[in-house]
Amino acid sequence: MNVLVINCGSSSLKYQLIEMTDEEVLAKGLVERIGLEGSVLTHRPKDMDKIIIEKDMKDHKEAVKLVLEALVDKNHGVIKSMDEITAVGHRVVHGGEKYSGSVLIDDVVMNVLKECSAIAPLHNPPNIIGINACRDLMPDVPMAAVFDTAFHQTMPDYSYMYALPYEYYEKFSIRKYGFHGTSHKYVSIKAAEMLNKPYNELKIITCHLGNGSSVAAVKNGKSVDTSMGFTPLEGLMMGTRSGDLDPAIIDYLASREGMTISEINNVLNKKSGFLGVSGVSSDSRDIENAAKEGNKRAQMAFSMFCYRVKKYIGAYAAAMGGVDTIVFTAGIGENSIPTREKICEDMEFLGITIDKEKNKIRGKKEDISAAGAKVRVLIIPTDEEMMIARETREIAACK
Ligand code: ADP
Repeated sequence: MNVLVINCGSSSLKYQLIEMTDEEVLAKGLVERIGLEGSVLTHRPKDMDKIIIEKDMKDHKEAVKLVLEALVDKNHGVIKSMDEITAVGHRVVHGGEKYSGSVLIDDVVMNVLKECSAIAPLHNPPNIIGINACRDLMPDVPMAAVFDTAFHQTMPDYSYMYALPYEYYEKFSIRKYGFHGTSHKYVSIKAAEMLNKPYNELKIITCHLGNGSSVAAVKNGKSVDTSMGFTPLEGLMMGTRSGDLDPAIIDYLASREGMTISEINNVLNKKSGFLGVSGVSSDSRDIENAAKEGNKRAQMAFSMFCYRVKKYIGAYAAAMGGVDTIVFTAGIGENSIPTREKICEDMEFLGITIDKEKNKIRGKKEDISAAGAKVRVLIIPTDEEMMIARETREIAACK
């Protein structure tokens, strides 16, 4: 059984074709600049050189068409015909309160996704466009929607509610939803496997630290809290996002700078975080390098990021009544040695001590806790595509 995993952004499309018997990735790739001049497909078939196809693609349907052609191409394809695609799994950012798991896509689901666009205007519309493009081109292939929010639907109300007038929850569904759920789920299941303990008996804190970053508290196999909120802006400091701040700043800034709310929103999403604080870059590698060279603002940005992750770990240990294991994942979590070291510094009181030698590793599954430490600190590379493919397989099998 082959599952095609599709992750659509506003002008990009990432894909992977996975053979599910051995969970082997047959091909993966990325289309960039959809609808813009200079659109390009980079296709990476297994055991072959990558292929770059430069061709103007006016919309996502053309992009999907080109991806399908690349997959069946007689030179660089990996399957003979489109009939060999058994199911398609779509990453969808927001499933609202409606979906606590993945679903088979039909017209009813599409309507709910459209409704959810109101609370995820930046994220859901491109996902919907991608699904429609695939449904047009592969009308008979079962498709699943796998939501970033679904894993966090187990949060209790006292964790997901904001202390706003209740009517805003009733009228506008304003509450914490959380994101990166597919990744938090994948790495927390892997952590239980690594520790050889039952998933539903563990208290796990998962730190997904990438361009977008979030922490989740996973107790007995269920997400009970997470740092992102109504949108992916809340929580940790990120590449260009501010994370938590005093909401009164918005009004103050509006009057001081003469900015509109949407201009401020843009600053909070695109010009803050590592980029805004350091003035250097949104990329943690640039921050680390500039910090090493003595750039004070880069040093501060690095310290702020680590301090905030540390605070969430403390908060979630308290929320769960303890912690058995901490997982680092995503670009920064998997690769940044100084970030992991700094976050875990002076955490012995919680039972967290890492082995600095074992921590000198990038992008590999590893237990980096010191011998005898009560809390196990793990690096687990995330694989959201594989998780989406697995969920899609389950759903297609039930059809
Ligand atoms: P996203 O999927 O949210 O776009 P990623 O999970 O790919 O992001 O993470 C991107 C981040 O990971 C960037 O800040 C990048 O600097 C960081 N990163 C990737 N490799 C390394 C590395 N070797 N050392 C430090 N940081 C790294």
